[in-house]
Amino acid sequence: MLQISDPHALQEQCLAWRAEGLRTVLVPTMGYFHQGHEQLMTMGRELGDKVIVSLFVNPSQFGPSEDLATYPRDLERDTAIAAGNKVDVLFTPTPETMYPSGFDTWVEVPGLSSLHCGQTRPGHFKGVCTIVLKLLNLCMPRHAVFGQKDWQQFTIISRMVKDLCLPIHIEGCPIVREADGLALSSRNSYLSADERALAPNIYSGLSLARQLFAGGEVDTAELRKRILDYWQEKMPAGRVDYLRLVDAVTLKEVEEATPNTRILTAFYIGKTRLIDNVSLG
Ligand code: AMP
Repeated sequence: MLQISDPHALQEQCLAWRAEGLRTVLVPTMGYFHQGHEQLMTMGRELGDKVIVSLFVNPSQFGPSEDLATYPRDLERDTAIAAGNKVDVLFTPTPETMYPSGFDTWVEVPGLSSLHCGQTRPGHFKGVCTIVLKLLNLCMPRHAVFGQKDWQQFTIISRMVKDLCLPIHIEGCPIVREADGLALSSRNSYLSADERALAPNIYSGLSLARQLFAGGEVDTAELRKRILDYWQEKMPAGRVDYLRLVDAVTLKEVEEATPNTRILTAFYIGKTRLIDNVSLG
């Protein structure tokens, strides 16, 4: 596995592979790898000849009072995990090389980005879109792989790639969960033992709504209420940031649930904000 930090060196390598007719796949991450990331790497291997994993804690997607400084990092462990997953390049740029002095170009998908996580984290998706477009331009991959855990991010990136006619296929990897249902996340490491024990209730609440839908309940107000009641009972000290039943593509709220409905949530357990989602399909 190559480890490359210089963006231009990465671009040269990817251009060379392209000239040889090799299919490259990009997997953008912020590191502190878990099995969710590993699943994305596996998917990358299946999609192409060369897999590039970027590891960059992107400052522009964090708000001023968010966890940029404390975001978990372990480059040595991540390098071993990437190598073990037969990644071809681990790209580890610095903020200074990705945002050199004078940097002044930003990419926005304002409609989709103003909803849900965008309301709690203003500017977050502008940072995400800008860094992802830069990474896509550096690699010019055939495919890029994103996790469905960040459903809104996946939708926004898909929109950006379509709107800007980028010749890249965006692939969504299903959510990888712990045995008790908690969606894997680097931020799970912030949870205390007591908080960790409560956290699977986020998914159980969403699953309850899926069962009710399978049993014929289509009133989204009722489904939402049943999830909130469940959470109130199981995690009275938790705090709902948002809970919305939306169309999976437009991300707009719907009154009647269908198999295309997705339930999106962000939930605070203590100070840790966790996101999760399920499809009703
Ligand atoms: P992150 O490093 O948290 O920014 O995540 C990098 C990529 O991994 C994103 O596309 C995430 O959606 C994806 N990802 C994170 N956690 C999971 C998970 N539990 N299952 C599937 N994909 C995930």
